[in-house]
Amino acid sequence: MTYSIDTENILTREAAETRSNLVSNARYTLELTLKEHATEYQGHCIVEFDYRRGGIEYLKLDFITKQIHAVTLDGKPAKEYLNGDFALYLKGDHLTEGRNTLEITYTSLFDNTGSGFHKFHDPEDSEEYMHTDFEPYDAHRLFPCFDQPDIKASYRLTVNGPSKWTYIHNTLPEHTRTKGDEITITFKRTAVFSTYLFALVVGPYARWEDRYNRIPLGIYCRKSLEKYMDPENIFAITRESMATLEAYFDYPYPYDKYDQVFVPEFNFGAMENVGCVTFTEHYIFRHKKLYSEHLNRANTITHEMVHMWFGDLVTMKWWNDLWLNESFADYLSYFAMSKGTLFGDALEHLYVRKEWAYQQDQYATTHPIAASARDTIEAFSNFDGISYSKGASVLRQLQYYIGDEAFRTAIGQYFKRFAEQNTTLEDFLSIMSEKSGIDIVAWSRQWLQTTGVNTLMSRIENGRLRIEQQGSADNNLIRQHAIEFTGYRQSGSALVENETQKIIIDGKTADAPLKPDTAFVILNTHDHDYVKVFYSRTALATARKSLHTIEDPFARRLVWGSLWQMMRDNAFAPTEFIEMGIELAMKEKDLSILNSHIIAKIKAIVSVYLTDENRAIWMPKLNTIAHERLAKTDNSEEEQIIWFGLLLETALLSDELDYLHGLVTGAESIASLEIDKEKRWNIITRLMACGHSEAENLFSNEKELDKSDLGLKKAFMVQASRPDSTEKATSWQVFTEQSSRSTDFLRYGMKGFHWHMQKDLLAPYVDSFFEAVEKIYTERDVHYAGAFGHDLFPHWHQTPDMLNKIETFLDENGKNGDRLPALLRKQLIEQADDLKRILPILEKQRG
Ligand SMILES: [Zn+2]
Repeated sequence: MTYSIDTENILTREAAETRSNLVSNARYTLELTLKEHATEYQGHCIVEFDYRRGGIEYLKLDFITKQIHAVTLDGKPAKEYLNGDFALYLKGDHLTEGRNTLEITYTSLFDNTGSGFHKFHDPEDSEEYMHTDFEPYDAHRLFPCFDQPDIKASYRLTVNGPSKWTYIHNTLPEHTRTKGDEITITFKRTAVFSTYLFALVVGPYARWEDRYNRIPLGIYCRKSLEKYMDPENIFAITRESMATLEAYFDYPYPYDKYDQVFVPEFNFGAMENVGCVTFTEHYIFRHKKLYSEHLNRANTITHEMVHMWFGDLVTMKWWNDLWLNESFADYLSYFAMSKGTLFGDALEHLYVRKEWAYQQDQYATTHPIAASARDTIEAFSNFDGISYSKGASVLRQLQYYIGDEAFRTAIGQYFKRFAEQNTTLEDFLSIMSEKSGIDIVAWSRQWLQTTGVNTLMSRIENGRLRIEQQGSADNNLIRQHAIEFTGYRQSGSALVENETQKIIIDGKTADAPLKPDTAFVILNTHDHDYVKVFYSRTALATARKSLHTIEDPFARRLVWGSLWQMMRDNAFAPTEFIEMGIELAMKEKDLSILNSHIIAKIKAIVSVYLTDENRAIWMPKLNTIAHERLAKTDNSEEEQIIWFGLLLETALLSDELDYLHGLVTGAESIASLEIDKEKRWNIITRLMACGHSEAENLFSNEKELDKSDLGLKKAFMVQASRPDSTEKATSWQVFTEQSSRSTDFLRYGMKGFHWHMQKDLLAPYVDSFFEAVEKIYTERDVHYAGAFGHDLFPHWHQTPDMLNKIETFLDENGKNGDRLPALLRKQLIEQADDLKRILPILEKQRG
């Protein structure tokens, strides 16, 4: 194979396959030295591995560092290597056939992007916190390694550092030696797992302990957030999920301890490092939260726990099979929760999550669940609604199709057969076929290896239910669907459940007999299927009149979900959605439905799917309604939080803004609702963006009151939202030039930059976006680039001209943008797709 030093930080699938054929039985022994107030740290790493000579000139060892001090191979100084920016290249014919021992001494810099070895300074108490985050390809920012999932290894870590810090790793400490203010901890050698699952978290963390049977459980967060933490809650969720998963998998928790650490400036929700899960601090609830927010947090806790089996114990061979990690974690977390007592309605919330899948699957950038991943950049782009949410939906369909017993037995067998190994799609399919007696390969062809979503419609005709299936857009595929449907009879103005049946839809049509008095039918009850369900005008009229009378909240939820899909497909007017939403919001007893399916959707419609004329009509109407609802003194705090959200986002006229101002100063108040720190910041941001005369006063006052890191970030958001051209230019410069600020800090500013009501002021930033964006995606890390491409996209500019600009930009950069960085191309194609969807909806309103 010809050889060249990489010019970007990337690993191709081809190179990874070659390497895993040559390298095996890897073992790392790592020693790190950390100091207070330092920008860098020292490392010493011994890499032991078996090598099989395979005719390559150089063996790549991934490694990003500031300076290498010494390299030895089998005890002798090694000279025969090349040092690139992203790897060392060891001369193949100098390596021993068999065992090799490489030792590297180095100095590296901390990262501030949230990935690699991230360091954070807490402005509130001046403490320092560090954590690692490596998926998919960042372990080599901490130590030299073969950074790919199928060269699994064990790790033995020693850390030297200040004794006032806590050190958390994948295993428990084995020896600890304290000398003065310094401590040396050597952790137990780990089990065998992939490099991206290694973890080290450091800092003066607050700690809580508990046990689940023999397994020690730990929870950690930084000192300044200790007062907000609710460890009993999190331990209760942890113990319940652990018990459910161990029983369902018929395989005990595979590691020695289970720590959950809430770390600052985390890029995702959480990361499933073996025995040391890291979470975003957004899951530390500083204020009263909705039930659905508690459920989502519990879901993330359970999701990461599922990964201890799916992902950590058994790992995909390469990132094309990311779904073997994520689809299972995404589905089984909701499923396990639904078996417990804390969040028994979890599967209803899986339905909300599935909107992510439907949306992603209707973009031109969609891909099969069983994806391709040429390299680690494409691997990163696969962390999307398909690998997670569509995969989860399709697994639920598979479980319903083959039956839970076969599904569960196959999973147990999968762990026993492949523990500590790597797997591919074929391994999964053969075990499912074996245990169910059904040919899962044919099932996989329709569901895992294709793209797109089907639509079902139904009508009642001569006492029978007639179902029609539409092919998925672009590829016109028809699939086999196993669903339940529920029929309702009319009793006065109420709909009463009459019958529920299972049906297999195989082809374009299907039908089933109905009880004679069934008058209304909901398809896909209990949401076993991955499909859109559309309703006729007649059925919609019935729903508008009587939906709230259906007793089962899950069934009501499904209808709301369908209305949203129909609205997005231009088959139901957004203004009609708002009217029906407001009418039924008054009668909806389930606050999760009220929030996720009615109010959240109305807010989205107001911001995205209305013409300026309709927005001007609806904003004040909705603001008045929210105001009236908030005046009801018998509302629960949760209900008040939901209506307050609508009040805030529809406030634009001066008296509406004055009222918000009064809420911050205390001149106004709302029954059962605390205007907490978060709400104060949100109000101030809105007042600033709208140019309220008192905004500056409130802002300087709030900055004095809140000196936390979150306070500083929110202050940057308010600053970026100021309706002032100099301020916008300054913020833009910060976003486009290299900055010593963390990605997380900058992200808050980006979120405050664009506003509908600042259209004129922001007009120049349409072209500025296109001028800057390629450089950002080329030079900055994927998280920063993603935030820039998403949050600084001028989303308010919903015109054919904007669509034209995106398409021209793509065309100027190869064939449909194929010369652009892959993640940017994906982002822009999706933004163009959004406009293609929105523009006809706006056009229709102008009618
Ligand atoms: Zn996951």
